[in-house]
Amino acid sequence: LASRESHPADTVINVDGVEVGGGKFGLMAGPCSVESEEQLMKTAHAVKAAGATILRGGAYKPRTSPYEFQGLGKEGLRLLALARKETGLKIITEVLSERDVEHVAETADILQIGARNAQNYQLLIEAAKSGKAVLLKRGMSERIEEWLLAAEYLLAHGNPNVFLCERGIRTFETYTRNTLDLAAVAIAKKESHLPVVIDPSQGCGRADLVISLCIGAVAMGADGLLIEVHPNPAEALSDGQQQVDFAGFQKLVASIQPFLQAV
Ligand code: PEP
Repeated sequence: LASRESHPADTVINVDGVEVGGGKFGLMAGPCSVESEEQLMKTAHAVKAAGATILRGGAYKPRTSPYEFQGLGKEGLRLLALARKETGLKIITEVLSERDVEHVAETADILQIGARNAQNYQLLIEAAKSGKAVLLKRGMSERIEEWLLAAEYLLAHGNPNVFLCERGIRTFETYTRNTLDLAAVAIAKKESHLPVVIDPSQGCGRADLVISLCIGAVAMGADGLLIEVHPNPAEALSDGQQQVDFAGFQKLVASIQPFLQAV
């Protein structure tokens, strides 16, 4: 069901009025983690003013260490709902477990399945059944074929609104957190009709490379971007090194414009 062969035309996903895919570009941005009302509202207004239509923000955070900030949970979801009400931005947020799908879906317009859960098939099935659009990250060591088969789970369980998200894979390289696989964009677009979104923030783990990677992603045919933005990245409770500030996000949006027009 995910293959281009079965469905030659690009899928366009309508997220409560915001269309992504088939030439409609989706700009998703916001903090890595929802930290406070002030942080989220400031960021929501800033990314909206710069041109984003979808607000990202983790309420449930899959942290490598159990001693790191784990997210605000239900309070984070409440703040995301407030941000949607105040700005009109649609909400994408991660769901970590099957038991959270129902209540996360009450707030989320798009459920994010993270790299660590990319092949958690029971979670994928529950997410599919929620009726919400799902953004499926590529797993850290996942082959493109496995990623497409994970998307197939979502489609096979009745959910046609699936975004594929490349977020870097684990390689031997240490200068970047992950190795963003831009060839995967072109391949996924060739093999599948689903919109492909790039997450350069997780993809390389370095704010100084995010703009260049976005330009590369757009040139490779990506349908959207998922960008981490924070009012003060140095003080972020998670992944400060890869988040851009408001000025950085404005610069990013301006930098990709000529490439969006060219492709
Ligand atoms: C995130 O986007 O907050 C995240 C944890 O991403 P990933 O699953 O790609 O690591």
